[in-house]
Amino acid sequence: MKNFDSILSDVFDNAKTAANALSKQAAKLYDASKHKISAEAIKRTIAKKLIELGKLTYKAITQEGDLADEINAVVGEITELKKSLATIEANLADINNQKICPDCGNKVTKESVFCNTCGHKFEAPVDEEAAEEAAQKVVEEMNEEDVTTDEEIVVAAQEAAEEIAQVPAKAAEEATEAAEETAPAEEPEA
Ligand SMILES: [Zn+2]
Repeated sequence: MKNFDSILSDVFDNAKTAANALSKQAAKLYDASKHKISAEAIKRTIAKKLIELGKLTYKAITQEGDLADEINAVVGEITELKKSLATIEANLADINNQKICPDCGNKVTKESVFCNTCGHKFEAPVDEEAAEEAAQKVVEEMNEEDVTTDEEIVVAAQEAAEEIAQVPAKAAEEATEAAEETAPAEEPEA
């Protein structure tokens, strides 16, 4: 039978785990809200810059004088702001376990292979550990085969690049095989 102390310690442990989970969740929400506030601020600045650009364009067309430099400066600022906004939105999506479709801007879950709005195919994520292993293997082979001339090094490097490029495909293949193995045998007929 458990003594009081051990029960109490279990309770504390459980409370600690719950508190940790909660604070992680809170940190995530805090990050997300910080990002949202920055994104909104940038959007407002972009809107202001667009108005400024409109006024400059109007002035350039209706009045004499070359305003090309001023117009280009504002366009440049808007482009930079849009880049920052895209970065923040990508971070925000990441926090929410999502990614942004590069073609249409739709948000999908990180695991998605296709965009459910435009059908964009996402690249398989690179399995860094597997790529590292493949690179290591290639280096070992190069050492064994005593690669010395420039030509041999170039060939070996090309082979290495090809081998490492196969890693995501291999990982996908293995995942499919694993899924097939764990899948139940054919459904019994009703
Ligand atoms: Zn899309």
